[in-house]
Order: sequence, then C-alpha cells, then structure tokens
Amino acid sequence: MPLTILQNDFKRQWEQVRAPVLAAVERVGASGWYILGREVEAFETALAEFWGIARAVGVANGMDALEIGLRCLNLQRGQKVLTTPLSAFATTLAILRAGGVPVFVDVDDRGAVDLRQCRELLERDETIRFLVPVHLYGFPVPMAELQRLKEDFALSVVEDCAQAIGASDTQFSVGSVGQVAATSLYPTKNLGAFGDAGALLTNDADIQGRAKALRNYGQTALYRHAELGLNSRLDEVHAAIVLDALLPMLQAWTETRREIAARYLEQIQNQSITLMQPRLGMEPVWHLFPVTVPERKREAFREHLRGGGVATGFHYPQIIPDQPAISGVAHEIAVEPVNARRLASCEISLPIHPFLTDAEVDSVIALCNEWSP
Ligand SMILES: *Cc1c(COP(=O)(O)O)cnc(C)c1O
Repeated sequence: MPLTILQNDFKRQWEQVRAPVLAAVERVGASGWYILGREVEAFETALAEFWGIARAVGVANGMDALEIGLRCLNLQRGQKVLTTPLSAFATTLAILRAGGVPVFVDVDDRGAVDLRQCRELLERDETIRFLVPVHLYGFPVPMAELQRLKEDFALSVVEDCAQAIGASDTQFSVGSVGQVAATSLYPTKNLGAFGDAGALLTNDADIQGRAKALRNYGQTALYRHAELGLNSRLDEVHAAIVLDALLPMLQAWTETRREIAARYLEQIQNQSITLMQPRLGMEPVWHLFPVTVPERKREAFREHLRGGGVATGFHYPQIIPDQPAISGVAHEIAVEPVNARRLASCEISLPIHPFLTDAEVDSVIALCNEWSP
C-alpha cells in the first residue's frame, strides 16, 4: 500500500494557498527588488506582532538565526553554552559556528532540556553563562523555571523556537524569556516557507540592529563592515509568500493540530504505546506527535503503520553528542544523557499536519489500537 497519510502534505497545502502565493510572487516580480526590501520589512513587522515580541529580523534559515542570536549576545570563542543532546543537529552546529563549546545535560520525559540539571550545573560551574533551550516537538520548556534560571545566573538565553511557534506555558509564550528567540521557516515547520528562511526575535533594539548587520556580511553602512558577518539574507519572494499566504493561516493550522492531538490523546489506547501528555498550563503547538514504544518493537510498529499507508518519523534517532562530527570538536557531556538515548531509540512520530482528514485521523487511531507487538 502506498503511503497516503504523510508526515507533511505539501500538495494539499498548495491547493489551499495557491492563489495568495501566486499573487505574492507576481507582486515581487513586478517590483524588481528581490532581496531585503519592503516585503522582508513587512514580514518582520507581521511576525513580531503575531509573536508579541517587539522586533523581528528575517534571515536565511533557522540555524543562522541561532548563530546570529548567540553572536548578538557577545558569545566569545571558547565560551561554554548549555544545551540539549536531543534536537535537530542545527542547534548544536549553530553554537559551534558561533564559537561556543556545547555542554550537554539530559532531557526530561517530553524531550526538553532538563532545567533542574541545568541549575545544578550552573551552581557548580560559573563559567557557563549561555543557554540554548529547544522547545522540542512543539512543547514549551517549563517557562517560569527558565525565567528563574535566567535571573538567578544572569544567563544569556537564545530560545530555539523552530518547532514551537505560538506555543506557551502558563503566562509565558515561547521566545519571551530569552534575550533572543530563533525560529526556522523550513517547509516542514508549523510556519514553513516555500524554501529556506528563518527569523530571530528580540525586544532589544541594539540586538535587532546588530542582527541586521550580521545577516548582511556585518555591513553597518554601505560598503562598511563593522564585523565579520554572514550572508544570511532573506529573499523578498519568501517573505512575501509567508506574509500573504502562510502567516494568515498559522492560527487556524495550529488549532487543527491541537484538535488532532486531542483526539489522539483521548482515543489511542494501547498499553504498548506511551503518549506524551502536556503538563498543566502548557499550550503546545504539536509540531510533531511523538509517542514511545519499546525499543525492540519500534521497527515493527513503523511497519504496521506503513501497512496502513501511514508515514512516521523518528525525532531524533541519534543524539547529538553521538554524532561523528561532534567527536572532533570541543564539547562537554555534563550529565549522561540517559533519557535522550531512550527517546532516540523509542520515539516515533505520528502524522499531525493540518491537512489530515477526519477519516485519516480515524485510520491512524485504529491502526494504533489494533497493534499488538
Ligand atoms: C529545523 C530546526 C532547526 C534548523 O532550522 P533550519 O531552518 O533548517 O536551519 C533548528 N532547531 C530545531 C529544533 C529545528 O527543528
């Protein structure tokens, strides 16, 4: 049986957004201006407003947003950056590219960096003053505790919000505690462009100004380069497409993800499948719907779903400190990442994109409930 219930369904998305996307492309084409212009500015204003953070800077991708964010907070070569072992590789790669030394602790049961372990480590190692937490799967990390950590240790925090745009925890939305929030508009993300794009958000005008220079070779005035920047400019066409066709749909798409998640949480009832329930006060945005199954049954479960036409994903099958590229660079494993390793071998993501039909959600639920390992 061909896979029909996908992890992401870009063709269905296209049917929904085709008209405003084509209009946006037409407008940019006719404007004769293709990089860093009025569309990018309008996109930045709209994204900042959506997020409730004062300023946004559009960049080429999420990894660059993290790197630029760390550089704006004056990370110096060789300084330690506390982070999670379980994320897209880009999180750690950005820290390394910014000159930092990643320091890994373990994660909690929802895959978020363990903030209790962070506190213990910060108490005994005064050289760590940077933190990059990841709101993995669309679950916010415990935001009130993040806020306390930032205050207690005068931390510089770049929140990796690539999977969590719009998520919140009690009174905090993701990205509102760190000096910088970084996000990705890679097509699979909840707000995905039609290509690569990213953004960083901040309430600080100096950080905004520095980020705008860094994304454009470090240029502070025409042909004047204050520091060594990147080429991380955002295209007008991507900004216009997101602005006109995608950002206006984000709230509705998020609601749909939440409705699907609510059905899965209520209706998947199989002792061999462990669901991740949100903590009280959490408003996740369900970038993914992760469940865990016994390690040695995971392939069989994937096959069972594939037999019913359902595509799944693993997020992520290998933890970052175990990646070959990390063995050659300076890093620290401050706490043995036992939980991260368990998730790497037991986690499997069910489809949860906003273009699933009710019948498809029913099929996923039925396949889960009839599985006997
Ligand atoms: C996608 C992602 C990134 C990287 O974003 P790109 O736009 O692909 O560079 C970073 N962190 C997390 C958690 C992600 O999911």
